[in-house]
Amino acid sequence: MQIGAIALGSSNPVIVQSMTKVPTTDIDRCVQQVEDLVRAGCKLVRIAVPRQADTAAFAQIVRQVGVPLIADIHFSPARALEAIEGGAAKIRLNPGNIKNRADILRIIDAAKLHHVAIRIGVNEASIRDLTQEAVPLAERVDLMLTEMQQYVRLFEDRGFDRIVLSAKTSDALRTIEVNRRITETFRYPIHLGLTHAGLPEDARIPSAVALGTLLAEGIGDTIRVSAAGDPVIETRMAVEILLALGLRPRCRPELIVCPTCGRTEIDVIRLAREVEKALDRIDKPCRIAVMGCVVNGPGEAADADFAICAARDKAYFYRHGQRIATVPEAEIVPRLLEALAAL
Ligand code: SF4
Repeated sequence: MQIGAIALGSSNPVIVQSMTKVPTTDIDRCVQQVEDLVRAGCKLVRIAVPRQADTAAFAQIVRQVGVPLIADIHFSPARALEAIEGGAAKIRLNPGNIKNRADILRIIDAAKLHHVAIRIGVNEASIRDLTQEAVPLAERVDLMLTEMQQYVRLFEDRGFDRIVLSAKTSDALRTIEVNRRITETFRYPIHLGLTHAGLPEDARIPSAVALGTLLAEGIGDTIRVSAAGDPVIETRMAVEILLALGLRPRCRPELIVCPTCGRTEIDVIRLAREVEKALDRIDKPCRIAVMGCVVNGPGEAADADFAICAARDKAYFYRHGQRIATVPEAEIVPRLLEALAAL
């Protein structure tokens, strides 16, 4: 399926998306945030359009950015129609929030006319029967699937197939299970994410577990890590998940640091931070290791392009497991940058 210039689903690469978090009517800041997200690795960006002023701003933002935009619709059919006409490449809709069936049909018809995709969202929190904590996992998944089936049938009966599916929960296990079932049941691209995952430090592990498990099983076509705060941070987390699974080619350096132990003779963490900062300026794919000793360091970092194995007041540089230089502590970072420039 094409969403603007982006090919989504089947064997196409998994797409990272995120959401702007500034008022949509603040067009300059919104455009700036979209651009920041694209630089961080987003290929699709979602924007909330709760009021008419927001859909008007959305239409202007569409013209100023080079990435397909998704309009985030909650309860208003009018906002959905305005966003479709305003240039949305996709809208995100929870049909359960739109009470009037005729309104849903009008949205479907408009999306069809303008070649706009619709993400049909089912959210556990919006299914009345699932507000009870005690509902067992299998029953929860069945209820979400049943609701999704009703929506998909409605869209298909109207002749609409530009569908992306998403079932959101705030729990990693439930997210994994419901998305496995969606894959067995439907043929449409799937958007993965955990809702209300928390502050970045709390969202990181549950999101990596849920999304990583599903992606490793080949499930999921687009992902969003949801975390409170700067959306660039959640985008970086999503990109890290894809890199860890080899689902996205690495175009920047990867830094490996040993966990340190009683053998370290210099401040390895400080050195690693300095190397990390220096690597920020490098945009070639390579693997750099900062290891705390020459006992295990060279062997454990044998697959690194450069390994810095620290000793008292100095470090030994290794390239693919072979020692190539002994460098005084103060010269470690500049000598590494020199070596990288020659790569
Ligand atoms: S590389 Fe050396 S310092 Fe680092 S954890 Fe291993 S043994 Fe300890």
